[in-house]
Amino acid sequence: MLHMARQVAAWSKDPSTKVGAVAVRDRRILATGFNGLPSGVHDEETRLRNRELKLAMFVHAETNLVAFAARSGACLAGSTVYIWPLPACSQCAAVLIQADVARVVVPDFPEPLRWVESFQLGRIMFSEAGVRFERMPMTGPVGHELHEPDYAEQRERLKMLNQPLIPDLPPA
Ligand SMILES: [Zn+2]
Repeated sequence: MLHMARQVAAWSKDPSTKVGAVAVRDRRILATGFNGLPSGVHDEETRLRNRELKLAMFVHAETNLVAFAARSGACLAGSTVYIWPLPACSQCAAVLIQADVARVVVPDFPEPLRWVESFQLGRIMFSEAGVRFERMPMTGPVGHELHEPDYAEQRERLKMLNQPLIPDLPPA
């Protein structure tokens, strides 16, 4: 299912970090979401390239997933949410908890430094709220690269270790 979250992530117009999320229960896909501007809001290049504007206006993939589930009337209670390629930030963790999601699965990638604290807080919140959080180990050759400047350090570190930043997924 991380494969699918990865495909959904490709729909994001964010030039730097494309994130996708898929909610599943009983082998049925309930909702998908990717990061982007709200529907109808103009995705002008200047907005996409301006980090602060982007942060202020963008909806994260996981929050979009919950919003789209609401639109279509899909209940996410007890579902598993797969997110590619990053864990949920604290704000999205809060929204997933409130939607009664039971489990969150993310690939085991290095995290951009800018978001480390928020991801950590998200994990603490999941743990306290009884949401299972799982990191799936990734192996194989590089699939694609993240272009956030935050990744520069990890990229260098992984290059030294001869590890891919975003490896291919193991077969499902
Ligand atoms: Zn988020």
